[in-house]
Amino acid sequence: MPISSPKAEVHYPGNLAAVRSWFPDDAACLDYLDWLRWPDGFRCTHCGCEKGWRLPAGGWSCAGCRKRVRVLAGTIFQDTRTPLTVWFEAAWLMAVTKNGVSAASLQPLLGLGSYETAWAMCHKLRTAMGRTSKDLLSGDVEVDETFIGGVKTGGKRGRGAPGKAYVVMAVESTERGFGRCQLQVIPKIDAENLGQFLHRHITPGSVVISDALRSYPPAIADTFGHKPFNIKRSGLHAHEVLPGVHRVTSLLKRWLAGTHQSGVSAEHLQAYLDEFTFRFNRRHSRARGLLFLRLLEDAVNAPPTTMRELIKVPNPHSVKTPPPTRPVWPESLAAEPLDRPWRDIDRSELLP
Ligand SMILES: [Zn+2]
Repeated sequence: MPISSPKAEVHYPGNLAAVRSWFPDDAACLDYLDWLRWPDGFRCTHCGCEKGWRLPAGGWSCAGCRKRVRVLAGTIFQDTRTPLTVWFEAAWLMAVTKNGVSAASLQPLLGLGSYETAWAMCHKLRTAMGRTSKDLLSGDVEVDETFIGGVKTGGKRGRGAPGKAYVVMAVESTERGFGRCQLQVIPKIDAENLGQFLHRHITPGSVVISDALRSYPPAIADTFGHKPFNIKRSGLHAHEVLPGVHRVTSLLKRWLAGTHQSGVSAEHLQAYLDEFTFRFNRRHSRARGLLFLRLLEDAVNAPPTTMRELIKVPNPHSVKTPPPTRPVWPESLAAEPLDRPWRDIDRSELLP
């Protein structure tokens, strides 16, 4: 269960300086993840027993089945060799900054040993973000399909181009503008795929606003209301009929082209859509640190993924999928304070 009504500076740090002072070492990070995983107290993942003893090195010994339950087992952090201090800083940058951060920028920023490590961290955090965007949209909801992604390889362009994917998107239309969105890669634009998307992301009884594509009426059936617009006949531009989805499409494309240099391949696009949705749906949240808490909360509830699962089907066009190399692990960010190393003279000489 998500932590209800968390407070700034009590349950989550308010800024990056607070992150660093709250979590100076891996033990502090581990304790925070322990609290996020079992906010109401320990519960054994093997037998469900609610009694256990804390182990000195972190984790629990179950009183029921006597098994050891590690805090990170069964989470995205399982078997990680990257220090938790590094994970926490990456999570902060991904959750809280306006455009997130790409693996290429994260690697030098955190002194990560390889691009592969940075890429896997970012992707695992995206997996966690995908878990959080499960809220159903409601009210008037604009729905449209588009064609997104594509690593530029100089070959075919347009619909048949490699690395491109169909994306269906839904955006709540509210009196004050746009509400939340949901985005999903679908294999084909037809009634079956559109229907699955609508049922998965929109509350029954909501009103779907769409263009006049023939696949919508059977996809909508009796579950939703429907306001179709024949854009050609209406004499309006598509962005006037469906302003929400057009706004989200242009923000998304700008983000993929900017932060990610258009290097996202089709088989990984869904994870990037999840990351975009995570931040877009929380764009009005003034408590930025709350996004950090929500991301880590989902990270301890998201199942682990291996590098092999992350890479999926190798695609020769996906330039941003790291080649398998010997992994190098980053240094922990925990550090003893240094005595102003930029002063190369003995500071005692400065004293009167
Ligand atoms: Zn147990």
